[in-house]
Amino acid sequence: MEIKKGVGVSPGVVICQAVVLDAEEYRIPERHVGPNQADGEIDRLEKALAASREELIDLRDSTSSKLGTETAAIFDFHLAMLVDELLLKKIRAKIKAENTTAEFAVATILREYARDFLQMPEFWADRVKDVYDIEKRILRRLIGESREGLSNLTEDVVVLAHDLTPSQTAGLDRKHILGLATDAGGRTSHTAIVARALGIPAVVGLNDVTVSVDAGDTVIVDGNRGIVIISPEESTIDEYQKHLRRQIEFARELDQLRDLPAVTMDGHEVTLLGNIEFPDEATNVIAKGGQGIGLYRTEFLYLGTENSEPTEEDHYRAYSKVIEIMEGRPVVIRTLDLGADKYTQARAAVPERNPFLGLRSIRFCFHHLQLFKTQLRAILRASLKGNVSILFPLVTTLMELRQAKMIMRDVMEDLEEEGIDVRSDVPVGMMVEVPSAALQCDKFAQEVDYFSIGTNDLIQYTLAVDRTNERVAPLFTPANPAVLRLIKGVIRSGQRHDVGVTLCGEMGSDLEYILLLLGMGLRTLSVAPPAIPELKKVIRSVTIERAKKVSKKVSTFDSDKQIVSFLRNQLRQVLPEAY
Ligand code: PEP
Ligand code: MG
Repeated sequence: MEIKKGVGVSPGVVICQAVVLDAEEYRIPERHVGPNQADGEIDRLEKALAASREELIDLRDSTSSKLGTETAAIFDFHLAMLVDELLLKKIRAKIKAENTTAEFAVATILREYARDFLQMPEFWADRVKDVYDIEKRILRRLIGESREGLSNLTEDVVVLAHDLTPSQTAGLDRKHILGLATDAGGRTSHTAIVARALGIPAVVGLNDVTVSVDAGDTVIVDGNRGIVIISPEESTIDEYQKHLRRQIEFARELDQLRDLPAVTMDGHEVTLLGNIEFPDEATNVIAKGGQGIGLYRTEFLYLGTENSEPTEEDHYRAYSKVIEIMEGRPVVIRTLDLGADKYTQARAAVPERNPFLGLRSIRFCFHHLQLFKTQLRAILRASLKGNVSILFPLVTTLMELRQAKMIMRDVMEDLEEEGIDVRSDVPVGMMVEVPSAALQCDKFAQEVDYFSIGTNDLIQYTLAVDRTNERVAPLFTPANPAVLRLIKGVIRSGQRHDVGVTLCGEMGSDLEYILLLLGMGLRTLSVAPPAIPELKKVIRSVTIERAKKVSKKVSTFDSDKQIVSFLRNQLRQVLPEAY
């Protein structure tokens, strides 16, 4: 049994067998061949090794003539491994003894090697990447094009990966994937957001969990405590199973709240909306008792369109679907938030040096005006069908907001000239997710209908912590007093100017913060749909008077640690079942 600590990003617990996405992010299942076929597998192995050696020698020679012998020397280590008889013997022996496929034997034995390197001093630990490289090279030869993906699973599994790309997460077989654990990532990385949307437990930022687990191992992913337990002992499994039974009972109890309002004990109504990435998720928002869509992340339309862009009709169809599902409930459509970690870097001819500070979001849209206008046309056309608002992301300056609104007016005029009906009074809001917007919100309030606080980016840009980087994940916290001060300022500014304020970052899905946010005056949240029932339960169990006291007390603390422990205690008193 081994316990790995990471960042719990989607709550819940699952006990299940693991699939590990290997070096090239495809999965190598444990497969066996007939007893007479082991020699054939060894043959395949030898051919793959020979081809890999040749490839490496070519690579070393060409690198040496282009970049000098020192650079080329890294390939010597790779070559040395490929002729390391001790290693090769182990792979052959595994195939022979267990009748496994050559690829499974290679993946398993090289993973053991990588594990050994991790135990060594730093210099050798760095070699883990080289081992992955070699693994990748041999597997490429062995597998060729016939890769195993994650879309056709036949059994329930937990997926372990170094990281998941947006298209991998979109292609997940939701029926059979019960949990996620990744080496990379932080609280608001893409994997985290998708896991929460799917309502499955997830832990990210585990550094080297993929090295420690083999396909088929039993693992426990504990998204509440941010740990992954590899090959747990029977007593640990028993303990967790008891916990799971309690969770199921609690979930049943929560189901009964579905149609009740989110109203505090002293009669203050709170609006709970859902965040979605895909149109189908709108159904789940209603199923969980959500009152509308508070954030539709439309950039997910770009998934699976590697060589083309969504057309106006693609946009229109997606928005229409969501609006129809919501039957008159509010639908906030955020314009494209491409850039940073969302899709553009992988396709860019010249990737940006600092993509989070680069041509992202509304800035990207201004540079790709046609793409922006296409989306706005579709939103405005679809707005006739329901209760739609537009939300501009990452607004940093007033000029940007004005420019975005001007482009929207242009598009409206174009549509009218073409004789296409549009609503002329679609509410326009902006994300408050950079400190400059939060600090200037009194000015912005005069030019928007509502604010939506994006805490994921607000934390990242206030604390200078990359939200996707596991190395700085412990620094990423909504409880930092500076972040809380900005959030409070925006809520207050909204009240002063009679401008609606929603909070739509992941902080809202975290039960620990709800009392504090209510106490600060927030009355609308947009969250991952699975979080809605528990939030409603807390809201229905507290008074605003108590929430205000909590907020007042929190403002006296000067460290995030104190704040988190105080809020945790408060929540424990209100909802012991959550723990
Ligand atoms: C945010 O930044 O808090 C937010 C909701 O937007 P995203 O996570 O899509 O950047
Ligand atoms: Mg954001």
